Amino acid sequence: MFFATFHLSAARCIISHMNETLRILSIFAHPDDEIGVGGTLAKYGHNGADITLVCATRGEAATIFCDDCATTETLASVRTDELECSRRALGVRHLRWLDWPDGGVSTVPEPEAVAQLTPIIRQFRPHILFSHPEHGTYPHPDHIGVHQRVIAAFHAAADPAYRPDLGPIWATPKFYVRAIPEEVFDLIPGFRDYRIKLNGQELPFHIDSPEHIHCTIDCTDSVDARIEAWRCHRSQHNPQGTFSVLPADVQRRVFQVEHFRLFAHHLPADLPPHESLEWGLPGFDHA
Ligand SMILES: [Zn+2]
Repeated sequence: MFFATFHLSAARCIISHMNETLRILSIFAHPDDEIGVGGTLAKYGHNGADITLVCATRGEAATIFCDDCATTETLASVRTDELECSRRALGVRHLRWLDWPDGGVSTVPEPEAVAQLTPIIRQFRPHILFSHPEHGTYPHPDHIGVHQRVIAAFHAAADPAYRPDLGPIWATPKFYVRAIPEEVFDLIPGFRDYRIKLNGQELPFHIDSPEHIHCTIDCTDSVDARIEAWRCHRSQHNPQGTFSVLPADVQRRVFQVEHFRLFAHHLPADLPPHESLEWGLPGFDHA
């Protein structure tokens, strides 16, 4: 298999095929949500892809898990710096903030959000869009709210009737969302019963069925970058968190493969399961 022997020159050849550089736009709710696709961003970012990360909130409403690194007053600025650190570790070129309220994405009216996101899509012209799945991965209202606004903007950016003043239309070829298959739950002790605590609720992670795993990316070569990026988010490291207590070798095994569902696309046809973001992209080699 080609990606089993992935190396730098081959990567440059693929992601810059026909003089076009692969452009990836990731839109997430909070600083640290990018870690869920971190191995893939690092793999492509360090091999020449042009990546923009958009973070909807500054994460100012989060629990602070470090004693000395932040206060409620400084958390927004600390998390801004943490995401900047993660951006560098992952090889992400551009970072943009929407400054939506943390914990209050649903209060941003959808038409306003779409008018903010559409020019980003139309200007950057991504081949690949990443965001939260419709169920949030775990049902955090901000994740679900961002997903709803991103899918609306994905369609609006391609619609000639929608706000021509916001730039020439762009039909993003692929919109992927993160997926977590059963096998990842098998790898991590206690993951099935793990709950994210949020406002008195306990939120479980979503298990994706095999038919929802459309793209599997081998991140063996970018595991270290993903771990480095994860370490940047010090204010969010729950010492009892699932990943904090994982033995290093298990953490590496979990991080070395990432899975995605092709949630929506502007391609001539649906794609069979594939192992690279370029697969099926017109103009890109996917041998
Ligand atoms: Zn989040």
